[in-house]
Amino acid sequence: YFIAFEGGDGAGKSTQVALLAEVLRAAGREVVITRQPGGTELGRQLRELVLHGAAMAPRAEVLIFAADKAQHVAEVIAPALALGQVVVTDRYTDSSVAYQGAARDLGAEAVHELQMWAVGHLVPDLTIVVDLPAAEGRRRRGDVHDRLESEADGFHDAVRAHFGAMARGNPQRYLLVDGLASPEQIHATVLERLQVEGVLS
Ligand code: C5P
Repeated sequence: YFIAFEGGDGAGKSTQVALLAEVLRAAGREVVITRQPGGTELGRQLRELVLHGAAMAPRAEVLIFAADKAQHVAEVIAPALALGQVVVTDRYTDSSVAYQGAARDLGAEAVHELQMWAVGHLVPDLTIVVDLPAAEGRRRRGDVHDRLESEADGFHDAVRAHFGAMARGNPQRYLLVDGLASPEQIHATVLERLQVEGVLS
């Protein structure tokens, strides 16, 4: 079973990934926790490049993110799923669709197609979108650490709007949760959905 967490910077995805992994493990599931960008050795190099490297054109940026994903699926995600493990990733293809496709104006559809090609059309069973206003994300992040976090709120608002639209448009594959709720509340909502899906009893 393949679960992706998506949402803006500062939405609380990493906290939710950790909380969920704990419950899945307690339930006896083998769990692989991972992240994008940076879920592999090559991915860590690409992450450094894309977040702290030289200035890059939007199309170059999206291709670096796509390379990270291709390696991530080949090296980590697909092998784990083949072993019957549960994979929980902090970001997946929808991040690129929202950030590079919608917010950077490269076109959500084109970026979606590119990402799907990069990951060999491997789609999560469930994608959980943590929804948070851009200004709140900025407040929570505090000091800006990388090139993308330093984008204006308008950029992050566009990211948020696109994540929301994706989730609302396909409730079977997405769960949209309110990032302003407490971590415990969000966690409970996630567990409820995984019970409905039969992943947890
Ligand atoms: O979530 P994480 O901190 O790992 O993301 C690293 C940075 O990359 C964030 O600033 C995020 O906004 C950005 N990012 C992006 N496009 C993606 C994935 C992440 O701009 N496809």
